[in-house]
Amino acid sequence: MIPFNKPPYTGKETEYLLDAVRGKKLSGDGKYSKLCQEWFEKYLPCPKTLLTPSCTHALELAAILLDIETGDEVIMPSYTFVSTANAFVLRGAKIIFVDIRSDTMNIDETKIEAAITDKTKAIVPVHYAGVACEMDTIMALATKYNLFVVEDAAQAMMATYKGKALGTIGHLAAYSFHETKNYTSGGEGGLLLINDPQFIERAEIIREKGTNRSQFFRGMVDKYTWSDIGSSYLPSELQAAYLYAQLEQSEYINQFRLKIWHKYFHQLKKLADEELLLLPIIPQECSHNAHMFYIKVKNLQQRTLLLSYLKDHDVLAVFHYVPLHSSSFGIKVSSFHGKDVFTTRESEKLIRLPLYLGLQDTEIDKIIKTIFSFY
Ligand SMILES: *Cc1c(COP(=O)(O)O)cnc(C)c1O
Repeated sequence: MIPFNKPPYTGKETEYLLDAVRGKKLSGDGKYSKLCQEWFEKYLPCPKTLLTPSCTHALELAAILLDIETGDEVIMPSYTFVSTANAFVLRGAKIIFVDIRSDTMNIDETKIEAAITDKTKAIVPVHYAGVACEMDTIMALATKYNLFVVEDAAQAMMATYKGKALGTIGHLAAYSFHETKNYTSGGEGGLLLINDPQFIERAEIIREKGTNRSQFFRGMVDKYTWSDIGSSYLPSELQAAYLYAQLEQSEYINQFRLKIWHKYFHQLKKLADEELLLLPIIPQECSHNAHMFYIKVKNLQQRTLLLSYLKDHDVLAVFHYVPLHSSSFGIKVSSFHGKDVFTTRESEKLIRLPLYLGLQDTEIDKIIKTIFSFY
């Protein structure tokens, strides 16, 4: 069976894990956490990054920083992971979904403005498959209506929009290092990216259980005390050690994935030309990171048939999000602004093919051959 995913491993992870185990500090913000955060701040660039135990936690931290409270509205696509919405629902917000674009599966930027009310506090674009949302339009709306933008860049590390790294455009952003993403910190992990410096000091306090411990360790205050609401949003050094090995190999991982992506794209093009399926569309201003290779088939029924055909031929392909507004909980805490033209219809057509570090050419050939034989 060709699995859908294998967690990335490049070789140095074990060595760094052992080094962290033998070091003097295993809890958060030790040597490897600092190395990772410095790497991001330099590579991206971004004024401040903070490792978190997950992308979910980074989004929760963002919602606290924006002082989201009961009655506030937050605009996002319905075609996303639950955490995008839950982070804000936890603060009491009402989620306002708008439709997606059928080409990129990203929020339709032309439908956002009509959904803005005087209760709107933030827009949360999700860069699906590491392909950027139309950020110039979204940032202009944020300026016009005095809103914050939190990029859910869970899938988007190493991808760009008009040359700018995703995650560095909104006021705040979040990456995921879950084992299904391009880079992992040992299974679970995330990063909060702070592009608006007004949030830096408070983010450190909230992440440290509501204390000014980070300032204390830097010698900026002579004792540390309870200063705000907060939680424990620090990952252990073991997670950071695993991640650092992957950051050192980030270009290698990115190129490996892109090669697979292009192979799928070129070999399946014949089926797309015959209008049997649709291939991903990458807008000109976006460079992506091959987070995902998906195809879109005719409809839900054909998708079910193809998925089971692939499974019968030892290939594990999967579908993706069930739109949040259609879930039993979504109905209670959200509403869909405007018409759902593409969200449900397009999500039902989508199939993700295996794509991971180490996927072999012979395996890709087999997957492609199986898809051809299905048609
Ligand atoms: C993976 C993912 C998340 C959640 O990431 P975790 O690190 O598992 O918390 C959130 N949003 C999107 C779009 C994702 O793909």
